Amino acid sequence: MEGKFRLFQNNTIVILGAGIIGCTTARLLLEKGFKVTLVAKHVPGDDDIWYASNWAGAIWHAGDSKNDKHRYMRAVSFRRFMNDYQSDKECGVCLVNVKEYFEKAPESMADLLGRKINPNFRSMSRDQFEKSGFEYGCQYDTLVIEPPRYLRFMKKKIEELGGLFIKKEIFSVDEIYDMFPDSTVFVNASGIGPKYIKGLEDSKCYPNRGQNVLVITDTSTAFLRSGEEYTYIIPRPLQGVVVCGGVNQGDVDSSNIDMSIAKDEIRRAHKLAPEAISESPDVAGYVVGIRPAREGGFRLEKEAFEDDKFILHAYGFNGSGYALSYGAAHYISIMVEELERRFCVS
Ligand SMILES: Cc1cc2nc3c(=O)[nH]c(=O)nc-3n(C[C@H](O)[C@H](O)[C@H](O)COP(=O)(O)OP(=O)(O)OC[C@H]3O[C@@H](n4cnc5c(N)ncnc54)[C@H](O)[C@@H]3O)c2cc1C
Repeated sequence: MEGKFRLFQNNTIVILGAGIIGCTTARLLLEKGFKVTLVAKHVPGDDDIWYASNWAGAIWHAGDSKNDKHRYMRAVSFRRFMNDYQSDKECGVCLVNVKEYFEKAPESMADLLGRKINPNFRSMSRDQFEKSGFEYGCQYDTLVIEPPRYLRFMKKKIEELGGLFIKKEIFSVDEIYDMFPDSTVFVNASGIGPKYIKGLEDSKCYPNRGQNVLVITDTSTAFLRSGEEYTYIIPRPLQGVVVCGGVNQGDVDSSNIDMSIAKDEIRRAHKLAPEAISESPDVAGYVVGIRPAREGGFRLEKEAFEDDKFILHAYGFNGSGYALSYGAAHYISIMVEELERRFCVS
């Protein structure tokens, strides 16, 4: 091996960010034999509200995307989370039944991605949803992820595969280039980071605050409601609680619990699923997290910043970072392999 190619293969790929996007990317690249170092202010085990991955529900949901690439990204994530669920029942992934209600019926039933991916997908009979004013309802099985547990599992996996974590906040992108002068590929998986990091400064990024109530109950069914009264109830079977939520507060970043939101989330959860959530349920706690949102949607693309040096962007996943994570990692790993080929033949 000579010159640039040898450099490419010997030097670590640097990932800025150790949320679900940085961790899934690290895992896939390590599995393909690349060297990987993650640099991040927050790493698995941390519980800052700005570390979105620690606070997600998190449910794998098909979403309403008609974009083929986005659909495939969700499908890849489902496959990988299913593999983890099947091989390690303690990793933080569980399989649950879902009842989903739509205020407006989907435009095309054939387009529903869940039909193709979620096991046991079936439409409800009209009498099961019409009386509550819904236009459509369906039932299926899906995967839910308990974030702190799954992030710890990922850290262990990454370290077993030879990946390194460096806990550090950076203020300018040049800092990270200077830390690794021989590296040619950098991945920007810094969530909301590009809004603030000098040299990245993406003005389309904005914080989207979420707040959830953790309710003690033994239900293992998830309930989802789309539309004006967007509401979710997501079980965490390994913890014996459900996550009740459904609030998006754009450009709000307070860490304080807003009790009026909490009360309203309980009210909506009870209305959606009185069989699972009582009017005054036992509350185990509250959760606040900042979703890394971006006007126009997430960014997943390659940018050259110097001769033969590249930064691969994967950020702005807002409320679907878990559902899209392994799909994003899949596309980043393809970009890395294309660069490897280019270094090898040029
Ligand atoms: C309440 C709530 C519920 C949610 N529910 C779901 C759900 O059900 N399903 C779903 O798919 N998604 C859900 N999400 C969304 C999901 O949590 C996010 O989309 C996902 O976590 C984003 O991952 P990320 O790795 O891009 O960002 P993050 O998890 O925020 O990670 C960013 C990383 O970059 C690092 N970083 C940033 N800036 C710097 C810097 N200057 N220097 C060094 N490091 C830096 C951080 O420290 C961190 O390691 C939910 C989110 C919230 C808040």
